[in-house]
Amino acid sequence: MFVSDCLGLNSQGHLTIGGVDTLELAETYGTPVYVMDEDQIRRNCRKFKDSIDRYYEGRGLCCYASKAFSCKEIYRIVESEGLGADIVSLGDLHTALSAGFPAERICYHGNNKTPAELAAVIEHRVGRVVIDNLTELELLDRMAQAAGVTVRVMFRVKPGVEAHTHEYIQTGQIDSKFGLALETGEAMEATRRVLQMHHLQLTGMHCHIGSQIFDNEPFAHTARVMMQFYADIKRETGYLLDEFNIGGGHGIMYTAADTPSPFETFMADVSRTVVGEADRLGLKRPFVLMEPGRAIVGEAGITLYTVGAVKEIPGIRTYASIDGGMTDNPRYTLYQSRYTALAAARAGEPADHTFTLAGRCCETGDLIGKDLPMQALQPGDVVAVLSTGAYNYSMASNYNRVPRPPVVMVRAGQSRVVVRRESLDDLIRNDI
Ligand SMILES: *Cc1c(COP(=O)(O)O)cnc(C)c1O
Repeated sequence: MFVSDCLGLNSQGHLTIGGVDTLELAETYGTPVYVMDEDQIRRNCRKFKDSIDRYYEGRGLCCYASKAFSCKEIYRIVESEGLGADIVSLGDLHTALSAGFPAERICYHGNNKTPAELAAVIEHRVGRVVIDNLTELELLDRMAQAAGVTVRVMFRVKPGVEAHTHEYIQTGQIDSKFGLALETGEAMEATRRVLQMHHLQLTGMHCHIGSQIFDNEPFAHTARVMMQFYADIKRETGYLLDEFNIGGGHGIMYTAADTPSPFETFMADVSRTVVGEADRLGLKRPFVLMEPGRAIVGEAGITLYTVGAVKEIPGIRTYASIDGGMTDNPRYTLYQSRYTALAAARAGEPADHTFTLAGRCCETGDLIGKDLPMQALQPGDVVAVLSTGAYNYSMASNYNRVPRPPVVMVRAGQSRVVVRRESLDDLIRNDI
């Protein structure tokens, strides 16, 4: 009945997450609060890991894209499930290493890595660096040479495929700030360059074609384009690449209208293409890296808020103001994202009212959702917004000097804080 399997209803009709009553969570921790179900996160990790074992004979690694939700506890969880992690900043690296995450299982991304970042990559022996451009390639090679080490790198390639939720487009010359273009010969040129370098080892190519993708075909198409590129590299340079990183972007459910393709058919279709094309072109079957972010944590999280004023504008719409907003969830403001919202105390009742959930910031666009079907709301009610595990906490800000909410993890009927609520003093900590 709900968008995610970690949600349920108890005998009082209250919404539960991981078996815990959301009204009790709101009472114990206050609102707004992010709540995440640890077992659901672990199930999602295993789903990816098990199917890599099944479809690629264990020759692969699922690297959790930590930009979706980054804190020490999530690194501990994905580490214990045997996953790797994608990171993009020194902040991510510091968080991961502080949580004991093995550097060797880290993939370092970014389209403008600073010399300080490349130095940290070398110092901590980060497992793979995804090189975005020739400037970075030359710089990392010089730095690795000076340090007397060899760094394992992949290239971020623009495969000429851009996928959105319902369709994908093949573009000739893609307009993107990320990566090396295939069709201009830039990616081949970089390959020739790196093969002459002595301190960088090119393991394979990386591509990431978009996010919240529901269909398998854009991924399969990308795999065909990339395996052909591997064959071109083999023909032109004699070099055989070992690894292939297909990126992330697997879609999840925010509302009942979202229809991501079933996970098994996704894995079966894409792996059949990767392995089939590698065999057909006489290539080595690659070690496959996958980088899901949203698909690991998105549906495992909800946000609880308390309703303040309810304002009916006759003939237009009814606004229910909540004690959070774009500071803890900027996704409606950024992309008009759709969410499912419920009155936590009456979550099983028909959603026969319509509310626009308004945040508390000084921006007209600060909404969590417009005209959402919901149960009736009164001031003081707890509202649950579903599927907020990805790109909510990680995109939160202190706009209007609003402290960030805590993150509470539930498991086996128990709850614990994994990120504390910011205090008012935290807000002025760096002020002189
Ligand atoms: C954002 C991103 C991901 C994760 O995307 P999801 O849609 O959350 O799965 C993976 N790889 C790269 C390079 C990304 O930029």
